[in-house]
Amino acid sequence: MAIIGGGMAGLSLAAELAELDGRLVERSGGTRPPLHVLVLERENQFGYHTTGRSAAALLESYGTREVRALTRASRTILDALGAESGRPLLRTRPLVWVAREDQLDALNTLLTANPALRAADRDGARTLCPALRTAAVARAAVERTAQDVDIEALQQLYRTRAATAGVTLRTAIGLESGERGADGWRLTTDRGDLHAGLVVNAAGAWADAVAGRLGVPPAGLTPLRRTVAIVNAAGVPPAWPFVLDVGDRFYFRPTSGGLLVSPADETPSPPADAVASPDAVALAVERVREVTTLDLGPVRTSWAGLRTFTADRNPVVGPDPKQEGFFWFAGQGGTGIQTAPALARLAASILLGEPYEVPGLRKSALAPR
Ligand SMILES: Cc1cc2nc3c(=O)[nH]c(=O)nc-3n(C[C@H](O)[C@H](O)[C@H](O)COP(=O)(O)OP(=O)(O)OC[C@H]3O[C@@H](n4cnc5c(N)ncnc54)[C@H](O)[C@@H]3O)c2cc1C
Repeated sequence: MAIIGGGMAGLSLAAELAELDGRLVERSGGTRPPLHVLVLERENQFGYHTTGRSAAALLESYGTREVRALTRASRTILDALGAESGRPLLRTRPLVWVAREDQLDALNTLLTANPALRAADRDGARTLCPALRTAAVARAAVERTAQDVDIEALQQLYRTRAATAGVTLRTAIGLESGERGADGWRLTTDRGDLHAGLVVNAAGAWADAVAGRLGVPPAGLTPLRRTVAIVNAAGVPPAWPFVLDVGDRFYFRPTSGGLLVSPADETPSPPADAVASPDAVALAVERVREVTTLDLGPVRTSWAGLRTFTADRNPVVGPDPKQEGFFWFAGQGGTGIQTAPALARLAASILLGEPYEVPGLRKSALAPR
């Protein structure tokens, strides 16, 4: 089986799949032949694209109903993985959704959909983040147990687990095209030909392009560029919350010695090595200045990445309905880190025909159509 893409999606699935397969082989008393899993990553390093560019947050009240169910399940797995490995993967950083007077309807909708959120008045929000301007926040909603994710450690953990379970992990090899024959796929790469019984498409922003290379119709994915910058900001305690506009116009949080800011932009882009535009960086700084009293200094660094969405903003996970031997694992959008653990287990269970339930998740909502 060939997994195309070595970001968080491809690596987490490779580890879960190979480990589950190992347990099934053991259970069969050795009568079941083990699966050979191969991950192909075009870049020279894993996680170079979207995975390496995230804001590293786990927010249980963020995203569609399906995404929130996957995030809750992933939270439990991440706690357990951190405890097992002796290196915690999460660190608590509360999330404060802020709303102006004219955004109160949106805040109420959010509070209704997320019973774990606590409503806070202006003073409550300013107790958590005293730099918020009075005029910028009328009410807020607080997720006390939101987390920062140690993405480097998580990615490393999945790589190690995948390699230990027998997965072949290759970088600097790009899939060019492929043809399905009676015995599976003949894949052409820029490093020669390969054979695979099944192809898993975990190619992030390139997932529709990868499908096209194999003659499979697209899933209708849209990559949207998002920009992040780190600016100098005097007097920002590291424990301040993640502050997110309920209308998705900005977010910010402390990061080592500065402030991470984003205009929460969603600019359509072809699949590419995304670059931050100076305008988007300036907008991030301007919007955070508008809502806080912080003295924001020069921009230290900035980057952009592509968040890739389906039309309904749920990931697409499952076998292609028309093309035998082609499995979708794409459309992780803006939550592919916080949903990765449960999503990878779900995809592995579908691929190997084993049961796996995520409480509150309608699996059919993720099925390719
Ligand atoms: C600014 C920003 C902030 C974010 N913040 C968060 C956050 O706080 N929390 C959260 O959960 N998520 C966040 N995300 C989203 C998260 O980063 C993504 O959902 C996740 O990284 C997607 O992982 P992926 O493996 O699908 O994609 P990628 O990491 O892009 O991996 C896909 C890989 O496929 C490879 N590939 C493509 N075509 C081929 C080919 N033909 N052959 C071989 N390889 C190929 C690419 O080189 C790439 O490495 C954020 C994203 C951005 C951009």
